[in-house]
Amino acid sequence: MSRFLNPRFETLEVYTPGEQPQDQVYTKLNTNESPYPAAPEVVAAIDAEQVRNLRLYSDPECRPLIAKLAEVYGLSPAQVFVSNGSDDILNFAFMAFSGQPGRAAFPDVTYGFYQVFADLHQVTATVIPLQPDFSVRVDDYLNLDQMIVLANPNAQVGCALPRQDMERIIASNPDHVVVVDEAYVDFGAESCVPLIDHYPNLLVVQTFSKSRSLAGARLGFALGSAELIADLNRIKYSTNPYNVNRLTMAAGVAALEAQAYYDANSQKIQATRAWTVRELERLGFTVIPSQANFVLAGHSRVDGETIYRELKRRGILVRHFTPVRIANFNRITIGSQEQMELLVRTLGELV
Ligand SMILES: *Cc1c(COP(=O)(O)O)cnc(C)c1O
Repeated sequence: MSRFLNPRFETLEVYTPGEQPQDQVYTKLNTNESPYPAAPEVVAAIDAEQVRNLRLYSDPECRPLIAKLAEVYGLSPAQVFVSNGSDDILNFAFMAFSGQPGRAAFPDVTYGFYQVFADLHQVTATVIPLQPDFSVRVDDYLNLDQMIVLANPNAQVGCALPRQDMERIIASNPDHVVVVDEAYVDFGAESCVPLIDHYPNLLVVQTFSKSRSLAGARLGFALGSAELIADLNRIKYSTNPYNVNRLTMAAGVAALEAQAYYDANSQKIQATRAWTVRELERLGFTVIPSQANFVLAGHSRVDGETIYRELKRRGILVRHFTPVRIANFNRITIGSQEQMELLVRTLGELV
């Protein structure tokens, strides 16, 4: 840290992204990317013409992309916001909606970035423990009198609440924004999007990084009341008006037009997930029920850290977290069937 850094940031605990090693090719099951490539339409959308046009700024209003998202999700363009990955939007949401002084509630085991954004924006976090089975207890989130951030399906864990339960939380906190992070919703959970027209305090955040195979393009979007979207635009126009680049914008539009391709991939991943859970249980793992493209799995005899290390030695990357509640587990991305067969064979040798 230099002596020039604002002391406010001295104690910030930064987010640690999953490993993206460049030294060798791993079977990469650690950051929940799709095992399947972007749709052919997306590849075709990035042509020489698009690259030549990079000399020009992108459209700050992101019109074609927002229009397409509005059409796909049955909303008006004024209810749609896009940005450079959904992390960017979550950052904006903490900045915009946590109040003064800032407060925000989220579970103890969830996406690690929520705590980082809270610290960054001097927001006091109300950290609510998940139940022993790692599910969210709805009653813990009623009438909280502060912003609420819930990943549904929950990050790291994989389980999801039904829309009805989410609605109770959203309805009981009408004076505060409820951010529902639906990064994994396309793998079998119920989306809160149908509630948007009933609850002006609901902000649904989604991403192209997981189900749409575009993690490297950096594209996230938020859906909510026109009021909340206008607030996010205030922050965006005070930060980086050209927050989505031209290539990503073209890729995003093309991806939305290839929905059938991505739906088929999501079906494949769900089938592979069911197979993987059965096999892991057969090997003596405890697997938390997942509606996401990953599973959280721990073994009774071999600890999580050892499994992580031994898999890495054998060329397979999974994600190990240090917080005690999940230290004996690993989060394993659901890859292709072939990748999961390799994982299961390798784990069979380890345990
Ligand atoms: C992956 C993930 C994100 C980040 O997505 P990007 O759009 O790639 O920034 C946000 N929230 C959760 C819960 C995630 O798992």
